[in-house]
Amino acid sequence: MVGGSIAALTAAQSLRAEGFDGQVTVLSDEAHRPYSRVPLSKGILAGREPVESALLPEPGDDIEFRTGARATRLDPRARVVTLADDTQVPYQGLVVATGARARRLDGGSDLVVRTLDDARVVASRLATARSAIVLGGGFLGMEIATTCRALGLEVTVVDLAPPLLRLLGPWLSDLAVAAARDHGIGVRVAPDGVTLLDEYTVRCGESVLEADVIVCAVGDVPNTSWLEGSGLPLAADGGLVADERCLVAPDIAAAGDVVSRHGRRTPHWTNAVEQGRAAAAALLHGEAARPYCPDPYFWTEQSGLDLKISGELPLTGAPEVLAGSVDDRSALLRWTHDDGTATAVAVNHRLPIVKLKRLGAGPPVATPSGA
Ligand SMILES: Cc1cc2nc3c(=O)[nH]c(=O)nc-3n(C[C@H](O)[C@H](O)[C@H](O)COP(=O)(O)OP(=O)(O)OC[C@H]3O[C@@H](n4cnc5c(N)ncnc54)[C@H](O)[C@@H]3O)c2cc1C
Repeated sequence: MVGGSIAALTAAQSLRAEGFDGQVTVLSDEAHRPYSRVPLSKGILAGREPVESALLPEPGDDIEFRTGARATRLDPRARVVTLADDTQVPYQGLVVATGARARRLDGGSDLVVRTLDDARVVASRLATARSAIVLGGGFLGMEIATTCRALGLEVTVVDLAPPLLRLLGPWLSDLAVAAARDHGIGVRVAPDGVTLLDEYTVRCGESVLEADVIVCAVGDVPNTSWLEGSGLPLAADGGLVADERCLVAPDIAAAGDVVSRHGRRTPHWTNAVEQGRAAAAALLHGEAARPYCPDPYFWTEQSGLDLKISGELPLTGAPEVLAGSVDDRSALLRWTHDDGTATAVAVNHRLPIVKLKRLGAGPPVATPSGA
């Protein structure tokens, strides 16, 4: 496996679970043991949770996990991965799980939250700050803004469009923006974009905004530069093109944030886990492996909203309210699509994930009792 996070680790562990007894090596360019990025924008950034809480369980003795091992080249014909120190690592089967990195606005000096080290730097800056600007109103930007508010900072989110509009659709975007404003988060739409003038100043249309800390959360870029010259197919979005079994080429599979399927990337935790499993199955069983059928699910916590979403996005129109009340911001909602599938959304509503997934999948079904 090349990549040191959840997709690579899941693929490695799935090979073992499927009975593979050959050598399994995970090559990670990070200095850390594998960890989850999920708490980096939440409890860890806020200083509420220790860094150790992000660490994933140790891979186990039957998996070799190498830190500081950056892959720089792939030769699929010779079946060799070359590392930055020129070590050659031969393989029989390969999973590419190199994920993505933060997109930057300022050539590298802007603050971002992608890695554990990034989160530590931003957390220490926030600890002494009184104000923050977050550039980018996607899931990550809104979570970072929420954390800034929890720390007592004055915070403004700036985006080209209303936060979450492109990702979730207008109905949920309106809900999230209203919750953000109630939370004391300023929201500013800058259709012409922003220009970072320096560490503390950003031009936004005619005005110049200032804050003690400016954090960029303007998307991510798949880590594929090490594949240059390998002949592996890249999509227009920069992701590695994988087929319905997560195969990229003979004996090469891919999983997680680096992957583009049907012209689309799905940079969410559950997708990385499920593709990690599918990639391992594809290496072991090739064309005989079951096609990977995504069952989209993800969650976000922001501005007092705990959103759990099962199904395709973005959403048009208004939802059915299956339980709870939208006015109270505690509800179970469902959007039914033209093809008979549905997307279910739990807003501050406790429901086991399997039940939510059942509501969000396939043709609409009756609300389960107790929902
Ligand atoms: C701050 C934050 C919060 C998030 N919160 C949520 C959430 O609440 N819910 C949700 O569903 N998703 C969330 N996500 C998304 C989720 O974390 C990602 O989808 C997931 O981490 C993807 O896993 P991955 O293994 O594919 O890639 P990554 O996590 O990007 O890991 C790829 C690994 O490969 C390594 N690598 C890259 N290039 C090389 C190379 N050339 N050689 C060796 N190693 C290399 C990288 O350093 C990294 O360790 C969040 C993401 C972030 C950044």
